[in-house]
Amino acid sequence: MSVDDRYSRQIILENIQEAGQKKLSKNHVVVIGCGALGTTIANNLARSGVGHIKIVDRDIVELNNLQRQILFDEDDIGLPKASIVAQKLKRINSGIKIDFVIDDVTHKNIENIIKDMDIVVDGTDNMLIRFLINDACIKNGIPWVYGGAIETHGMTMNIIPHKTPCFRCIVQDLPEAGSLPTCDTVGVLMSIPSIIGSIQSTETLKIILNKQINRDLLVYDVWSHDFHRIKIKRKKDCECCVKHNFEFLNAEKKEEMISICGSGAIQVTPVKTIDISFEELAKKLQKLGDVENRKVILRFRISGYELNIFRNGRTIIIGTNDMKTAKSLYAKYVGI
Ligand SMILES: [Zn+2]
Repeated sequence: MSVDDRYSRQIILENIQEAGQKKLSKNHVVVIGCGALGTTIANNLARSGVGHIKIVDRDIVELNNLQRQILFDEDDIGLPKASIVAQKLKRINSGIKIDFVIDDVTHKNIENIIKDMDIVVDGTDNMLIRFLINDACIKNGIPWVYGGAIETHGMTMNIIPHKTPCFRCIVQDLPEAGSLPTCDTVGVLMSIPSIIGSIQSTETLKIILNKQINRDLLVYDVWSHDFHRIKIKRKKDCECCVKHNFEFLNAEKKEEMISICGSGAIQVTPVKTIDISFEELAKKLQKLGDVENRKVILRFRISGYELNIFRNGRTIIIGTNDMKTAKSLYAKYVGI
């Protein structure tokens, strides 16, 4: 198997050439989150010959992932996403280094995860992790490529420390739990993460090759074909990129505290005081499972779990002793 042949169609591109291919082979990229965006990004980067790819994800493959998460098949259901992606990438390209981390990304481990990496690519669907990535990347001077997709639309932006605005210049603070739609509550068409993930991987290659990169927030709707380039300005008093006050990394801001309450039950408490609209949340959740609105508590049953949600966001999840499962259920159905 000749290296030249593997990349021949890419090397003849004016924008890549031999020298560019060599640069790609020497680069280290970490993809955080391996859902629809993450699998698209990891697939593209591995095929393009990025020399070292690290895959990070806490979840296992579920049947409802197969509609859009391109590296999984039916045999993978129930297995950890990160290790499955690593296996598949090795079969796609044996000439690159691939490793993986099966863990929750937190303020404790993020700097270790991105250490020695050249670029971080966002494949998460979680605002708290994006704020953590932003803090850690600005602090350590590592470029990162933000991306998000839901329903039929998505957005992406490149964040180059000290050169472009950062994520907190766009979104100043964590949204309130229950206020943002998630793919689990409103759905996502398979083509949009595929498009956004492809833009993110292309921008990653351009960052590696030191080419002119996109500096706007790109927003696209694959159903209506509305496309916008939004100019973002650096916020003069940005907590992160101006003041270097890394509130998420220093865990001064976190969305939840998790504690075990009895056998088979876990309590998740958001740190921020919030007021959830049960009417709106119930409307979203009733399409997915059994919802009971008891005024002081909203009860939601899905796949053997019962989420007892209070108006202030505190939630008792019955049916698990595992903190990661509880956190993942909370993120999917209540929150951020
Ligand atoms: Zn900023």
